[in-house]
Amino acid sequence: MRFSIFPAFIKRRQDAPSDSDTGSGLLTQVNRELYKRNAELAIRNKTLALLRKLDEISMASVGMEDMAQQVTIAIGQEFGYELVAIAVIEGTGKQSSMRWLSVTSPVQNIINILKETTLKDLTESLKTMGVALKVLSTNKSKVIEGYKEIFPEHFSGKLAKNKSGKELKSTLIYPLSLGSQALGVLVLTASRNLNNLSEHEREAISGIIGLVSLAIYKAKIYEDLQKTTEDLREANSRLAQLDKAKSEFLSIASHQLYTPLTAIKGYLSMIQEGDYGKLSQKQNKVMDILYASSERLIELIKNLLDVSRIESGRLELSLESVDLNKTVKELVTELSPNARKKQLQLNLLGSTEEMPHVVADAQRIRQVLLNLVDNAIKYTNKGKVDVKLAREGEMVVFSVCDTGKGISAEEINRLFTKFTRVGGAEKYNTDGSGLGLYVARKIVREHHGEIMVDSPGLGRGSMFLIKLPSEGTQNSLLAGTKVNVGIKAGEVGE
Ligand code: ADP
Repeated sequence: MRFSIFPAFIKRRQDAPSDSDTGSGLLTQVNRELYKRNAELAIRNKTLALLRKLDEISMASVGMEDMAQQVTIAIGQEFGYELVAIAVIEGTGKQSSMRWLSVTSPVQNIINILKETTLKDLTESLKTMGVALKVLSTNKSKVIEGYKEIFPEHFSGKLAKNKSGKELKSTLIYPLSLGSQALGVLVLTASRNLNNLSEHEREAISGIIGLVSLAIYKAKIYEDLQKTTEDLREANSRLAQLDKAKSEFLSIASHQLYTPLTAIKGYLSMIQEGDYGKLSQKQNKVMDILYASSERLIELIKNLLDVSRIESGRLELSLESVDLNKTVKELVTELSPNARKKQLQLNLLGSTEEMPHVVADAQRIRQVLLNLVDNAIKYTNKGKVDVKLAREGEMVVFSVCDTGKGISAEEINRLFTKFTRVGGAEKYNTDGSGLGLYVARKIVREHHGEIMVDSPGLGRGSMFLIKLPSEGTQNSLLAGTKVNVGIKAGEVGE
């Protein structure tokens, strides 16, 4: 905005001078007008300086209280209000209350009174703060006589007793809001009458209100964000503790179960083989069931131990050059009887290509591939299971394709999560634990590989793929080294 230092009326007078306007009368009038314009200019300059300052405060301060305190001090100093305060609404509906963020004064006597009062002492419930509530609900400023309606009694009582200072005549309460969101109030108390503010002061205040509202809004978002982050951090650390306790329990329980169970299995096998005398046919049948059950339990415990090792970062992989062709041939031979029992064809589809080796922990990668073929047989009642090894660029790709129960699109993404069995898996196979694929993915990923699944839908078969980098390629691990399988960032809860 630009101001002319020559008021319009001076020009007019020069154009048409009259006798009565000459001499000291005219000079007084010019002086008065100049004085008024100067005062206006001073206010505008102050306002501009204050707005700049508020902008800086809003950019630099972080906490609500910190920001409000700096803002109230700046307003009090620049505009000569004896008391400047900001209160914000907290909570919603009946639970809402007013929280004083800052009450400051540039006057020494009042500063002394404020020193004896904490902001918490001043906090009142919104219901009892009639004026503030009215200002907020109408979104219109209001002038009140004195200050008693806005501040709690114990504080206003001290202000009233303050005989050494000027009497505080009126208080102006401004709503602070952003769009339709009420944020709080700005309270200005002065020893002058605030009912008839000059247009310039009113203009200046509305500029301030806009900036203060924005600053409060920003600080409120920041505070909310900080609180949410803090809550999340706490919840996270509680979860981590629980997870640790659970992993420890899992590890102890599995270890304690594993040793006696292997002993039971060993003795059962000896009894079956006749080491303790010949068994009748009836007894043999029972022994078969007992032996199969002990094997199942041991399998489950092995899986639990693997999970516990992975989660504590103790599952170590000893890397060597592995010929997957040989591994795959062996495991197909090993699982053929299972397929035969279910009258399924288990086919090893040959590749004409020479297959490159991969760098892997031979035992662990065998366990993963075996789990996929075993699953394909478990979850297929009719048809066939095709196993294939192929080369795809720098990767060796192992695939198992079955004509079994298939997986629905909704459930396919959950397969690699711990303890997850989907699509009525228990009907096909009662003794699954839902841990095999979870362990498989962790092991494959540690080998810089990928495990994937695809299925046209329930009842329509599935295909599982594992891709591993060929030995010597950029992504391959180094034979002769060791790595540990663990939980990576972003994998928690998978
Ligand atoms: P488990 O077989 O012990 O339940 P896994 O982690 O190996 O545990 O498999 C998780 C689940 O994935 C299985 O319970 C089953 O629902 C599903 N699944 C795995 N392989 C197949 C497959 N070839 N066809 C259909 N569903 C499968």
